[in-house]
Amino acid sequence: MIQASETKINNVPRPSRSAVAGGDGPAAEIARLSAQLADRDAELARLCGQRDAHVRELAAVKSQLEDAGSVLEVRVGAQTRELRKLTENLEKQIKERTRELQSKIEESENSRVALMNMLEDMEDLRRRTEEEKEKTLSIITNFADGLMFFDSNDRLALANSQIELYFGASKEDIKQVIGKRMADFSGIASFKPLAGLLGGALKKVSRKELFLSEKSVLEVSSLEVTGQRGKIGMLVIVHDISREKMVEKMKTEFVSIAAHQLRTPISAIKWTLRMVLDGDLGPITEEQRDFLEKTYKSNERMINLINDLLNVTRIEEGRHLYSLVVASMEELVHSLIGPYSDIAKQKNITINFDGPTEIVPQVKIDVEKMKLVVSNLIENALKYTPAGGGIFVSVGQEGGNAKVMVRDTGMGILEEQKDRIFTKYFRGSNAIRMETEGTGLGLFISKNIVETHGGKIWFVSQEGEGTTFSFVLPPADKGVQ
Ligand code: ADP
Repeated sequence: MIQASETKINNVPRPSRSAVAGGDGPAAEIARLSAQLADRDAELARLCGQRDAHVRELAAVKSQLEDAGSVLEVRVGAQTRELRKLTENLEKQIKERTRELQSKIEESENSRVALMNMLEDMEDLRRRTEEEKEKTLSIITNFADGLMFFDSNDRLALANSQIELYFGASKEDIKQVIGKRMADFSGIASFKPLAGLLGGALKKVSRKELFLSEKSVLEVSSLEVTGQRGKIGMLVIVHDISREKMVEKMKTEFVSIAAHQLRTPISAIKWTLRMVLDGDLGPITEEQRDFLEKTYKSNERMINLINDLLNVTRIEEGRHLYSLVVASMEELVHSLIGPYSDIAKQKNITINFDGPTEIVPQVKIDVEKMKLVVSNLIENALKYTPAGGGIFVSVGQEGGNAKVMVRDTGMGILEEQKDRIFTKYFRGSNAIRMETEGTGLGLFISKNIVETHGGKIWFVSQEGEGTTFSFVLPPADKGVQ
């Protein structure tokens, strides 16, 4: 637009100098026009000036705008970068969180699976436990022996049908004792003998015999049932030994009769041999004497065996027939040493007797039976001690009781056989090798005799070094009456 007006202005014809100098005529007109032209030029110049100023202003504004634009651009760039960074960080964080969440989800999935497995295992375990319980119950129910299970509070938890049978108890009786302690059993007639045998508090009992009648003898044992966490309860096992008892009784009776029957002819042989040996029936040759001596000794061994058997049968039948008197163990033991000195000398074994160094109480005993005990210990010491050894017999007191000790330097007792030494017919393997003759009854009889007198017998032995048998008897006023 500005350009257009400029072109217009340039096209106006300029007045000549002569027209301006002429006054009112054309010259004046020219002059007026010139003046107008000059005005217009001035106006034009002013407008041009204005235009230039505008152009400059615009240029300045433009450059300002450009500056502002580039500042803005820088700022926008920076902010864009920042935003990008933020976005990146955010993305990173989101990724991390996603990963975390993912692993948490996986973890919880694993836990869920593990939990499910555990539940399955538990169910399996529960089923197996149930099966085991059933198995145990059916074993208990169908067991040939009578079984009673008492829980950890000693209350009867279950009893099998054999218990009913053995004790002649009714179902009602069983119902009444379930949940009760043994002490409360005595109120029920059929269980009274059992309660009497086991006492109030249940404790470990091994093979106690319960005599109910001639035809019914029971063997009762009770033992602790333990699990991984200690005591679960107590089990009472009742075994019917009526038949064994009957057979044992018949055996004992047979042995007793046979021994009695044998005693008479064997005694007759003994006295006849004695008479022949003593020359009462006329003179005999040395050779005959030798044979007869050997026969006499064999016969003596037979008598000893028969006596042992008779003693055992008496013990088993509970017929001890003790005739008790107050006596001194020192005198009793001393009187026995003499007869053994000769045998000891023959075997090249020394035998010593040590009397008491302090007062030994007198004891109430069956003298013959007690002699049997001491003789048996001395004879064993002689049998099981090789030549050159020694036997030391002593009498003393221990804890107010009379004490007898028989010590030898013999072959000793094998460690693994020690717990069987006092059992009937037991002979140590080393003893059998050294001394073929023996019944294995001597110590069984001795133990029974000592215990029936209220005493105690024991031994200490070291293989190859020797053995000491000791027994104590209570003083006369505290012993058997
Ligand atoms: P026996 O002497 O007839 O064999 P006992 O009942 O008297 O029977 O003894 C049983 C077993 O005890 C013997 O066979 C022997 O093994 C062992 N015994 C007893 N006394 C002694 C001892 N003094 N030294 C070594 N062993 C012994």
